[in-house]
Amino acid sequence: MALEYDAVVVGAGPGGASAARELVRAGRKVVMLEYGPDGGRIGSHLSLINKIDLKNALPLGHEVMVRGLATGGSSLIYCGTATKPAAFIRERTGIDLDPLADQFIEELGVAPLPDSLVGESALRIMESAQRLGLEWQLLPKFIDPSKCVPHCGECMLGCRREAKFTARRFVNEARTMGLTLRPKTRVDRVITEGGKAVGVFGLGPDGPVEVRAEKVILAAGGLGTPIILKRSGIDEAGQGFFSDPLVFTYGLLEDVDRGSIYDIPMTAGTWQFHEKEGVMMTDLAEPWMLLMASMGTSWPPRVDQWPRMRRTVGIMTKVKDPVSGTIDARGRLRKDLEPEVRWRLAFGDRQARAILRQAGVREPSLFTSPVKAAHPGGSAPIGRVVDRNLETDIKNCFVADASVVPDELGTPVVLLALCIGRYAAQTMLANWN
Ligand SMILES: Cc1cc2nc3c(=O)[nH]c(=O)nc-3n(C[C@H](O)[C@H](O)[C@H](O)COP(=O)(O)OP(=O)(O)OC[C@H]3O[C@@H](n4cnc5c(N)ncnc54)[C@H](O)[C@@H]3O)c2cc1C
Repeated sequence: MALEYDAVVVGAGPGGASAARELVRAGRKVVMLEYGPDGGRIGSHLSLINKIDLKNALPLGHEVMVRGLATGGSSLIYCGTATKPAAFIRERTGIDLDPLADQFIEELGVAPLPDSLVGESALRIMESAQRLGLEWQLLPKFIDPSKCVPHCGECMLGCRREAKFTARRFVNEARTMGLTLRPKTRVDRVITEGGKAVGVFGLGPDGPVEVRAEKVILAAGGLGTPIILKRSGIDEAGQGFFSDPLVFTYGLLEDVDRGSIYDIPMTAGTWQFHEKEGVMMTDLAEPWMLLMASMGTSWPPRVDQWPRMRRTVGIMTKVKDPVSGTIDARGRLRKDLEPEVRWRLAFGDRQARAILRQAGVREPSLFTSPVKAAHPGGSAPIGRVVDRNLETDIKNCFVADASVVPDELGTPVVLLALCIGRYAAQTMLANWN
């Protein structure tokens, strides 16, 4: 059968959007298949119901895993914080993503927020942390200050003002250059002939879908990609993954008008404990409905603090997570919290409590949320599942998302995924035959 497209990209998150945009810019005929819907309202809890993974948002062992399933992937609901690719990726693989990261930083105007957008609680937390001698600094953001407004705090509900960069922007840009997007299409497996990928098979809104293309780029994210690889005969995929577990430490500040839910999440934070202790900390409160859930499910429950939610301040502790556990071909996740992960979370929680006390939070209102997670990756690592060109054992089948990260990470992922997508596309274009 004739191949309809030069390339099929699976998944419209940062990795897939970046790869697709690069390929259409080079004049290639590309189709993108995305599990979730395209467009639609954002900016409220209700509007996200058909755009997030509800199955894994329910407790998995000890964790809740949050991810976006829509055009934009998890960048639809991310906090907009940018972090350059971790140095170990270059050291372990020889792939230098830093020049690509610098290009994205310039293109997207990544920078710390101006003072006018630094919220009352974020500032109070930063000053308290600094008084305790911590290196607590403003973090670089994917946020356009000219479109952002103070006291909104809705980044994680999807930014209705488009102040926050999401991968939707790259997908839409690529569409103006000829990309075909097919939303609500779940890819099941890669079609191979003679050991080579020649397309993908899946299920679309009108029934089974078969798309034929010269190259297949899997960018279904750290949870989605290994499932497709396993169903395509690559058993090594999903033999371990990281999820960067996190907890929130919350307390009440009676003398602030606007608590952390009104702040741009992750305005400032510290990397001071990242290398040695494996811990990153930042100001952050969940959107109000999730905050209510955390108050109700912490131990002991804090439902008595629901009415004073607007004065709640929060700090997130996010930790490195060893690559372990499994993702099977049906998408079932198995992973325990390793002892070092528990230690890291407890370490961060202790620091966070000290900062919040310093800020004026009274002891009885302090509580810690259950463990959650939001950064799946490492499930198709370079060196085991893909080579330096991000190609799998199936020729012409590539991976271009956070799955390829070769070890525990514990950092925000979007900038890294954008770089991986561009790197995959550029390498593919350079070797196209
Ligand atoms: C609440 C939250 C806050 C975060 N904050 C930050 C932050 O501030 N900074 C940061 O850098 N990172 C942050 N992250 C993490 C970041 O958003 C993700 O790690 C990043 O989006 C991963 O990019 P990706 O391209 O690897 O995968 P994803 O973003 O997961 O995209 C994968 C896409 O593939 C689609 N897909 C899955 N399976 C299939 C299939 N079978 N067929 C077709 N399509 C499929 C999905 O619907 C999705 O659109 C946050 C994440 C969350 C959930």
